[in-house]
Amino acid sequence: MILIIDDNAENIFSLKKVLELHNLEVDTASSGEEGLKKILKATYSLIILDVQMPGMDGFEVAEAISGYNRAKDTPIIFLSAVSIDKKFITKGYNTGALDYITKPVDPDILMLKVKTFLQLYEQKCILNAMQTALREELEFKNEFISIASHELKTPLTSIKAYMQLLQRSLENSGDKMVLNYLQRTQVQIEKLHHLIADLLDISKIEKGELRFNKKDFSFEPLLKSVIEIIQQTNEGYKIEVKGDCNVQVYGDNERIEQVLINYLTNAIKYSPDSKQVEITTELLDNNELQVNIRDYGIGIAKEQQGNIFQKFYRAGDTANRFQGLGIGLYICAEIIKRHNGRYGVISELGKGSVFYFSVPVVHHSIHRRTENIVKSEINS
Ligand code: ADP
Repeated sequence: MILIIDDNAENIFSLKKVLELHNLEVDTASSGEEGLKKILKATYSLIILDVQMPGMDGFEVAEAISGYNRAKDTPIIFLSAVSIDKKFITKGYNTGALDYITKPVDPDILMLKVKTFLQLYEQKCILNAMQTALREELEFKNEFISIASHELKTPLTSIKAYMQLLQRSLENSGDKMVLNYLQRTQVQIEKLHHLIADLLDISKIEKGELRFNKKDFSFEPLLKSVIEIIQQTNEGYKIEVKGDCNVQVYGDNERIEQVLINYLTNAIKYSPDSKQVEITTELLDNNELQVNIRDYGIGIAKEQQGNIFQKFYRAGDTANRFQGLGIGLYICAEIIKRHNGRYGVISELGKGSVFYFSVPVVHHSIHRRTENIVKSEINS
């Protein structure tokens, strides 16, 4: 329905006639105030608004409309005795479409503008509806992932515990082949566990609920234990470590462990023809510890390197050759960002990659060290 707001009854009459001749439904108001009351109650697809009216003028009415949720996207055609500056009519109303017609109104021009605006409004409504539907679908999917991964986690934890019991009893009495199958099952269960944990993390990031338990911790033992874990499930791999990492880091050690595991698992997964991974650590001048993990694997093409930390992104033909969901690096990026660190990749297709991240080292540990040196120098 179209709303005409004009204080002149004759104008209203003639405009209404033209519009009704084209089978358009019309409502009318004889002042700005009355028009606003109507707009509050009903939804209009177009408003034809007289500029010069006693009381509220057309521009004031338009400004008021822009604050109404129901009408802020509704196009407006101003009616004016003189031609008006476009800059002036957009003042205070910049969300919807705007135009003006000078009086006396030419019915053909009026209909041309009315039809264009009605089409525009209709398209905008369709777009809005699609957007709402998409948003709802996305929210549903996030909620589903969150619930499903929660529900999967509980039985999986029991399975892991039973597997450990089974392993213990087989180690004493069991046959070697069965023990071997059991170990392989455990590796797969561990993968499933990481997948479910990643899915849970994704839904937490989406809801802004990824929490960190930050404290000071020593980095070196953490790195050593991660390498041990990775080495256990990847026999025959050579993981070399270089550099000094005997520092205190302030952060969530479990989350930083997660980043290390993810980088290392990827370095192995995406290197089908190499069994070598190198880790170098460096203390930067800006009090950051940088960890670089180098592999000699498939590498990543230059133009794809910028996308690699995005959610669900998998480079090249990765999806055909390797299992995965494309969420690990996205979670790593979020974790490092939340530690005020940096992350990235340097890579060459077919030659290998260096994935790196940095985390701030604890200031006062360095101060304390210098303090101790100064103290011992004074004492001696
Ligand atoms: P996933 O491994 O499940 O696909 P990630 O988020 O960990 O998810 O990685 C995203 C993508 O980045 C991978 O699909 C792969 O294309 C690429 N990638 C990650 N690590 C490496 C690596 N070390 N070498 C080559 N490509 C990698």
